[in-house]
Amino acid sequence: MTTVAEQRYAGVLRLDGKRALITGAGKGIGADIARAFAAAGADLVLSGRDDAELTRSGRALSDEFGVDVRSAAVDLADHDGPAALTRMASEAFGGLDILVNNAGISLPESVVDTTPENFDATIAVNLRAPALLAAQIGALMVEQGTGGSIVTVASAAALAPLPEHYAYCASKAGLVMATKVLARELGPHGIRANSVCPTVVLTQMGQRVWGEEAKAAPMLARIPLGRFAVPHEVSDAVVWLCSDAASMVNGADIAIDGGYTMG
Ligand code: NDP
Repeated sequence: MTTVAEQRYAGVLRLDGKRALITGAGKGIGADIARAFAAAGADLVLSGRDDAELTRSGRALSDEFGVDVRSAAVDLADHDGPAALTRMASEAFGGLDILVNNAGISLPESVVDTTPENFDATIAVNLRAPALLAAQIGALMVEQGTGGSIVTVASAAALAPLPEHYAYCASKAGLVMATKVLARELGPHGIRANSVCPTVVLTQMGQRVWGEEAKAAPMLARIPLGRFAVPHEVSDAVVWLCSDAASMVNGADIAIDGGYTMG
């Protein structure tokens, strides 16, 4: 016979019956979050720009975990991208319970070399799109009246300044604060909004920016655990934040950085 505690921990990290939209779900951290969510029982709308890639990964997750997976290809750099994605994702299952705002770009540039083009591109994808998407899906969740969870994949770069990441740091710090405004305004409707702030994860993006040893070494030296993160260390936190186990967590920015930003 299972104990009450065993029953609780068997079920508490499940997302069965939840309908989740994950942006940037075709590769890197987003693909790992999608897999973790499928394993936890959530039905998914996977978003990115490559419809074929999304359809392929959706079919694989569906076959392996028996969940319903749809895809919605949208370029979030477009002004109308967030509205189009809100429409597609809400129509897929007739509503949404979870948004994971994960899509992002990094165009490393020192302060003195910053161009308006790169600055605008970074802000458009990393701040404007997720903030508008969260606002629109938040409004939908309010209308549904059944609560919800919004998780933003920000970055340790939102909490500690990183050289050559001028626009990136600004975009991620802005996103952490926007998420706190969501938490304050939508909390009374049972909708929780939180951010996760990972250090370097060696995905395509991480590899491109931190892949060379000369770049990586000084960064690793500042991380007390002495290593970069792996995708599942981000996904585990996102599943937890969207589960009942985190039912009182709202407006938090959770560092997943081996102690890098603790001061
Ligand atoms: P990847 O480059 O591996 O993946 C980025 C994802 O974002 C892709 O799925 C991509 O879609 C999507 N994306 C980029 N631009 C757009 C756009 N214009 N419209 C729609 N989707 C877009 O990055 P990571 O997995 O490493 O990063 C995921 C998130 O984690 C980002 O927000 C990043 O800032 C953050 N992060 C990453 C860290 C790292 O070291 N890797 C550290 C801390 C935070 P498509 O498949 O169409 O290219």
